[in-house]
Formats: sequence, structure tokens, C-alpha cells
Amino acid sequence: MRAAVYEGPRTVTVKDVPDAKIEHPCDIIVKITSTNICGSDLHMYEGRTSFETGRTLGHENLGQVVEVGPGISKVKVGEYVVLPFNIACGFCKQCEKGLTNYCLTMQPEPALAGAAYGFAEMGPYQGGQAELLRVPYGDFNALRLGEDAAERQVDYVMLADIFPTGYHATEMADVKPGDQTIVYGAGPVGLMAAYSALLKGAGRVWVADQQPDRLRVAEEIGAIPIDTRRENPAEVVKEATLGLGADNGCECVGYQAHDPEGKEDAALTLNGLIDAVRFTGSLGVVGVFLPEDPGGAKAQDELEGQGKVPFDYGLMWFKGQRMGTGQAPVKRYNRALRDLVAGGKAEPSFLVSHELDLDEAPTAYEKFDARENGWTKVVLHPNGHSA
Ligand code: NAD
Ligand code: ZN
Repeated sequence: MRAAVYEGPRTVTVKDVPDAKIEHPCDIIVKITSTNICGSDLHMYEGRTSFETGRTLGHENLGQVVEVGPGISKVKVGEYVVLPFNIACGFCKQCEKGLTNYCLTMQPEPALAGAAYGFAEMGPYQGGQAELLRVPYGDFNALRLGEDAAERQVDYVMLADIFPTGYHATEMADVKPGDQTIVYGAGPVGLMAAYSALLKGAGRVWVADQQPDRLRVAEEIGAIPIDTRRENPAEVVKEATLGLGADNGCECVGYQAHDPEGKEDAALTLNGLIDAVRFTGSLGVVGVFLPEDPGGAKAQDELEGQGKVPFDYGLMWFKGQRMGTGQAPVKRYNRALRDLVAGGKAEPSFLVSHELDLDEAPTAYEKFDARENGWTKVVLHPNGHSA
């Protein structure tokens, strides 16, 4: 089968690899029809993680079941399914609590938790930017889709990661109807966080970024854009709220946060949030931070190279704020969000800028990584475009 393989910093090649196959009675094999490139893939693409060369990328996957193991009883061949990026067993202590983002079974590394397809430090699993994907514990992990699946897969594939992740940011931030919410980052995750806050009935949602094309998309869904090249988001928000700040906020950028000139500072958005959100407000941090940054320019820096981020904890404590962090537990939300899509109440495909063949993955990575104007979100179709 064909697959998009990581071959070193900023090098992705589409080539032949061995077919995905059933390795365990509870596996299913999915013919991938839609698979996204994610901001998380870019950390790996840029060589900023321990991701091994030769591995297939892709953790935002949707497709049609083509084979099921003998232990599978629910999922049927021919059905369309969307796969949470988290791979979970369903029976460990964490999964029992709904924490599929920190499953203990699927992470083979002792004392670590959490697994994903084609992801650094999250197990040995291959990614879905390929013609076929092996899905462990298919009955538990696959979310089945209705009859409109093939036609609306560009909406449904957002359930694999960014829609539930954006929603999770608003859950950790405790966004409620009428709230005033600030979102840092207008990438796909930030846009989904803003969209989720608006779906929940937030009164005002600001989105801060330095990319005008992405800010335009934020504005189109009813958020208030803040261009960080010209304005300080915390000042804008405080001025609009009698100096108090937003009720809550979402961090959707991560450790590669940078100023408009491109200078990286992993504390930038955390400090911005702490400043912009009022006393006792909650902060939902879904942007990725890592315990080490081997490929970063600051790798030699004692602090940042080791994932230590000095941020305004004193001010955060003084303001009595709370912060939620980590990978999103996609399964907690994907069924409800699927039904919002099916019911015509949500259309997360609004942020898709490009639908491409798998062979175009190298160019897509290059353009998305450069945050080139207009490249908001890329969906790859490894088995041809749908109708
Ligand atoms: P992206 O890289 O496309 O978007 C990030 C955006 O942040 C860009 O538009 C960039 O211009 C902007 N930005 C950079 N510095 C900024 C600053 N100082 N202030 C405001 N905006 C700034 O990525 P994405 O796909 O939207 O993902 C965002 C983050 O979420 C990444 O770190 C990704 O790894 C992470 N993520 C986490 C989860 C999870 O489960 N927690 C899931 C998916 C993605
Ligand atoms: Zn992702």
C-alpha cells in the first residue's frame, strides 16, 4: 500500500510500505478515504520530537472497514467509521474512567500512558496517511457513521481530533452560555475551540493569531479576531470587559508559540491567557507542550530543551485561576458531536482549505508547515476523491 512516511526533518515521502494487516483478534482494517494533516504532525515533521524515520504519519482518520478480526462483534465490513486519534483498550483503569487519552494498555512503554496513530512517544502504531490502517480494539475505538458518511466525510473526519479537541479546550475552560472567552491560536484547533464555544452559547469569543487568513475564518464563524501583529490580546479583552478580563480562555498554540517576528517563546500564550482571563477563571490548554525538545533551536537551552517553561505562575495563583492540560479524550465527545453534524447543527468542514490526493502529501506538508496564506486545513484522500 502507499503511505506518507517521515524520512527526517521536513521530509515526507509517499511510497510503498507493507499492507496493514490484522495482528490481534480485536483489530479491524480500515480503507482510509479521508485523513488530515494536523498541527501536531508539524512538530514531528519539523524534527522537533523523537518520531522515528520510516514511520507513517496520520492520526486524524476516517474510512471504510474492509476486514475485521475474529474478536469483533459490532463493527461490520463496509461501514464507514471515524477513528479517535487516541488508541484505547476500553478496559484499563484509565479507560474505565473515560480517560482514553491516557490508556494504560495501548502504551507499551512502562510508566507512560496514552497511545495514538503515527505519533511520537505514543506507541508503535502506524499512521493513517496511507491506503489502509490497522485499528486495535475496533469495536471500542471505531465510531460508526450514518448513510451520509461518504458524502460528508470532510465534516466527519474532524471528529478524529480537532473538533473534540477544540471542544475539550472549552470544557477544561468551563465555557458556559453567555461567557466571554478568549482563544489563543486560529489554527484548526483554535478555530474548533472558538466554534465549540459559540455552539455552547458563549456571548463573545475572541480569537488571537498573527495570520490574517486564519483570523478571517474566525470572523466568518462569528468570533472577534485579534491580530497580534497590531494588538495585545489581553489589553483588547480587558478593555472590552471593564478591565476584568475574559471569563475563561483556551490555549491552542503550544510550545512553538512565537511572536509576530517568529521568535519562539513557549510561555507566550500561557502568559497571555493568565493576563487576559479574570480572577478565578479557567484555562484550557490543548496546545502541545513536551517534556523535551530535542530538535528545537533552543535544545541546548537548559530550560526549554528539557521542556521546562517558566511562566507567570505567581500571577495565575494570585488570580485563583485553574488550568486543564493534555491530550483530548476524543471518545468523550465524538458521538455527541457526530450527532450535531448529522443533525445539521455543526459543519466543522468550514475550515478545510485543501482536499488532495495522498501523492500530494509532501507539498501539503511543506505549505501547511510554512502556514502559507490560505492553507488552513488539509484533508488527504488516499483512495481517491469522493463524489
Ligand atoms: P497550527 O500550528 O496550524 O496552529 C497554531 C496557530 O497558532 C497558528 O495559526 C499560529 O500562527 C498561531 N500562533 C503562534 N504563536 C502564537 C501566539 N503567540 N499567539 C497567538 N497565536 C499564535 O496547529 P493546530 O492544528 O491548530 O494545533 C494547535 C496546537 O494544538 C498544536 O500544538 C497541536 O499539536 C495541538 N493539538 C493538541 C491536541 C490535544 O489533544 N491536546 C490535539 C490536536 C492538536
Ligand atoms: Zn491532530
